[in-house]
Amino acid sequence: MSRFWTDKIASLDPYVPGEQPQDKQYIKLNTNESPYSPSPKALDAMAAEVSERLRLYPDPNGVTLKTALAKSYSLNTDQVFVGNGSDEVLALAFMGYFAGGKPLAFADITYSFYKVYAGLYSIEPHLIPLDENFNIVPTDYENLDVSGVVVTNPNAPTGKALPLADIEAILNANPDVVVLVDEAYVDFGAQSASVLVNQYPNLLVVQTLSKSRALAGIRVGYALGHPDLIEGLERLKNSFNSYPIDRIALAGATAAVEDESYLKEICDKTIATREQSVNDLKALGFTVLPSATNFVFVTHPEKNAEQIYLALKEQGILVRFFGSNKPRIGNYLRITIGTDAEMADLTTALKALLA
Ligand code: PMP
Repeated sequence: MSRFWTDKIASLDPYVPGEQPQDKQYIKLNTNESPYSPSPKALDAMAAEVSERLRLYPDPNGVTLKTALAKSYSLNTDQVFVGNGSDEVLALAFMGYFAGGKPLAFADITYSFYKVYAGLYSIEPHLIPLDENFNIVPTDYENLDVSGVVVTNPNAPTGKALPLADIEAILNANPDVVVLVDEAYVDFGAQSASVLVNQYPNLLVVQTLSKSRALAGIRVGYALGHPDLIEGLERLKNSFNSYPIDRIALAGATAAVEDESYLKEICDKTIATREQSVNDLKALGFTVLPSATNFVFVTHPEKNAEQIYLALKEQGILVRFFGSNKPRIGNYLRITIGTDAEMADLTTALKALLA
């Protein structure tokens, strides 16, 4: 029997995250986590926070983290918002800045959570197709009648980056709505729009500690923008849960953001491994999109992606397959860059599979 609440729940179409199977130890190349440890300074800071202080609520303003982030981007603390993973920051931005009016523009192939938030807040997606090479075309973002624009830079799952001039073109074409630039992967080789925050009051840059800072487990994301945009997010956040992140996460995230040399070290390692993996995959016959991220998006002209995905899983290697029914990307795999050893295992397994 259908009841109001059952219909309500049935109408939700939540995001399905990459699998995290517990049955055995996999080489996990499916959810774009870092293969490296978080900064040792972050681990120490979190261990120190596990103390009698946990009886106290965390700082509702997350000041230590906002100060560290503001310093690292040469911004003021009132230009920084902190949330429980960038997914939460995105959800609040959708609710606060995009809901209740016109459709929201974003690419047809991009982070699939946007459609979920749009559905949750009754926002109609205005999907803008990527071109035949999976590029975002800035001129397609002109003369839109929308409530806002989301640009993912670098884009996921394609891995392709836009130059800053293209982001500026999109900002200039859309001065009356918020342009949200999701930079989850920016540290792996793209230019951050954070340097434009003082120039464009409608720009909201969203980043995460889950990828380049190797801290997916503590769920910390942040937004950079004009103080008015940040203030709006604070109000929304405080209407739900006035503590941005817990004490342990706050301590760890602050130390991680302050440890810039460690960030550089693990990003450089990932980029070097990525370049090697691109060569190895191309040598096996894969078409590999140019990547500015910690993953590569690949297809094999003669082989079936689903079969490769299943055979790799059987051998204990997880990569991301989005489904053969997905338009344009149904025969693609997204492979996270692991350690050199993990990628060598992947190459060996693929070599055997394709033989
Ligand atoms: N944006 C993009 C483009 C992503 O791929 C992800 C990770 N799946 C996120 C945001 C969310 O990251 P988190 O919530 O871990 O900060």
